Amino acid sequence: TGTLYIVATPIGNLQDMTPRALDILNAVSLIAAEDTRHSGRLLQHFNIQTPTTACHDHNERGKSQRLVERLLAGEDLALISDAGTPLISDPGFHLVRLAREAGVRICPVPGACALIAGLSAAGLPSDRFAFEGFLPAKSHGRRQRIQALAAEQRTWMLYEAPHRLLECLEDLLELLGPERQVVLARELTKTFETIKGAPLAELVEWVRADADQQRGECVLIVEGAPQPDDGDALDPAAERVLDILLAELP
Ligand code: SAM
Repeated sequence: TGTLYIVATPIGNLQDMTPRALDILNAVSLIAAEDTRHSGRLLQHFNIQTPTTACHDHNERGKSQRLVERLLAGEDLALISDAGTPLISDPGFHLVRLAREAGVRICPVPGACALIAGLSAAGLPSDRFAFEGFLPAKSHGRRQRIQALAAEQRTWMLYEAPHRLLECLEDLLELLGPERQVVLARELTKTFETIKGAPLAELVEWVRADADQQRGECVLIVEGAPQPDDGDALDPAAERVLDILLAELP
């Protein structure tokens, strides 16, 4: 059987395309792309003539079956998305799962990924972290997610569309409080790359005051909640033991 290559492409700066990614995109017999017109420009830039086929959220289930048949027949294929690493808030999950179930070899070809780039420059704890992808677009759903994350102690990241950035920051401010540190990583690897970290109250003001900060693509990196203050509170088990001991006292 053939190999399915999961190939990362740049998130803005074309020089982030790796030599290995270029070799593989040249060598495979077909490239499955989220948007063939969008990827057409990338492939043209690098003079890659491999044919492309569309594999996006709306056709992925049906399409995956046909792609897996070609893999099983011995062809090597590549999957790319519009930007960055496929499957990271991008299509590809159904194809990869189906291909794995069919026993096809899957080979990742790593490269740019906005959340990892943002985290690596944020200066927030990065030993453990959580990725939340896009929050719900509507305010109610978004606020519910933020509430559920308010006590998360790990650093967490989310993707946001530029036209919702300010609303999202305002919800974060209201639900996490003014002190929580958040880093806004905008236009990573591009000309107007901006990485700004501040307590939420200050960050919201800064974005509100400058319409330029509400354009372009962005990642938000949110400091985790402080460890619960265990200064005088005991854990429930210790509390029970203490109650029993106290009851024995004369
Ligand atoms: N697969 C991509 C990756 O590996 O990062 C993510 C795809 S997702 C559909 C697009 C979102 O990623 C954008 O809305 C933005 O939140 C984030 N993003 C993509 N490129 C970015 C960049 N250059 N700077 C900051 N955020 C970016």
